[in-house]
Amino acid sequence: MKAVAVIPKKKNSAHIVHTDIPGISDNEVLVKVKLVGIDGTDKEINEGLYGKAPEGENLLIIGHESLGEVVKTGKDVKAVKPGDMVVATVRRPDDCVNCRAGEYDMCLKGEYTERGIKGRHGYLSEYYVEDERFLVKVPKELDELAVLLEPMSIAEKAIRMAYITQKRMKWEAKTAMVTGTGSLGLLTAILLRLRGLDVISVDRSDNEYKNTIFSELGVTHFNTKKINLHDIPRAIGRQIDLIIEETGNSSVALHAIMTVGTNGVVVLTSITGGEKHIEICSDCFNQGLVLGNKVVLGSVNAHRKDFEQGINDLLAAEQQWHGLLAKLITGRYYPEKIHEALLALKDNIKVVIEF
Ligand SMILES: [Zn+2]
Repeated sequence: MKAVAVIPKKKNSAHIVHTDIPGISDNEVLVKVKLVGIDGTDKEINEGLYGKAPEGENLLIIGHESLGEVVKTGKDVKAVKPGDMVVATVRRPDDCVNCRAGEYDMCLKGEYTERGIKGRHGYLSEYYVEDERFLVKVPKELDELAVLLEPMSIAEKAIRMAYITQKRMKWEAKTAMVTGTGSLGLLTAILLRLRGLDVISVDRSDNEYKNTIFSELGVTHFNTKKINLHDIPRAIGRQIDLIIEETGNSSVALHAIMTVGTNGVVVLTSITGGEKHIEICSDCFNQGLVLGNKVVLGSVNAHRKDFEQGINDLLAAEQQWHGLLAKLITGRYYPEKIHEALLALKDNIKVVIEF
C-alpha cells in the first residue's frame, strides 16, 4: 500500500513509500483511508522540527486528522463493523495515573505516543490498523465533513475546559473572542456561536472569502493590523468574557491575557516551539489577573468525549448553517502532491489529502 512518510528531523523529507497492508489481531480494525486533513504540525514535522519514528524504525508515516471506512474487524471487535465510517483519535496512553483513567490528553508523565507525530505511524496511508478503543464511529450523513472531527475535538476540549473552570462562580458569558482564523479558529468560532455567544474573531488580515463565512456565522471580525487587541472591548462597548487563543503566536497569547475582562478566562492552545522574547509590564500583568479574578489555562489534545461532542456539534452546525462546514475544506490533493499540499497550508483554511 501507498503511504506518505518522513525521515524524522530531516528537512523536506516527505515522500511516498510502499508497504504491506498490515494484519489485524482479535481486537483490531483495518480501516481504508478516505481523507486526511493536514495542518501546521505536519508542516513542522516535514520541516524537521519534530516527529519521532516508531521504536526501531527510520521512517514516520505522518497524518493525524483521519477519515476512513472499516473494511475488516478482528473477532473480538464490538464497537464497529465493516462499512462504518470512523475517525481515529491521536494520542495513545502511557501508564500514568491520568492515562490509566482514560484521560491521556491530560498525561502526567509525557511518555504517551501520538499517531503520525510521536513514536507511531499516522494515517496518511491507504490503510491503517487500530484497536477499536481508539476509533470513533461517525454518522454517514456527515460524509466528508467528518475529516474536520479531529481539529474540532481540539476546539471542543478548549471550550469544555473553560466552562468547567468557570464553575468557580456564577458566570454568564456573553462575549467570546477567538484569536486566529485558521481551521481551528473557525471551528472554535462555530462552537461558540452554537453556544449562543457573541463571537469576535481576530487575525491580521481582511480576507474576503473568510468574511463571507464570518457574516454567515454572525461573527464580528477585527484586523489587528488596524486595531490593538486590548482596544477591542472599548470598540464593541463591552468586556470579553472568554478568549480562545489559536494564532500560534505567544505574544498574542500574552496580549489576550491582558485583554480578557473581569472574571474572564483565557484558554491557550498555540504550540510555540521558538524562543520569542517580549517585554511586558509584569506589575500590570499580575495586577490585572488578581484584581480581575481571571484564569489562564493551557489546553492540548482532546479526550474521547470531545470527539463525541464534536460529532454532535458538526451535525448541529451543518443543520444551522447548511453548507458552511464544506467551505472550510479549501484544498484537496493526492498523496503524491504532499509538498504542494504542505505549501498550500498558508493560503487555505483546511487542506485534505484524498486517497
Ligand atoms: Zn500518561
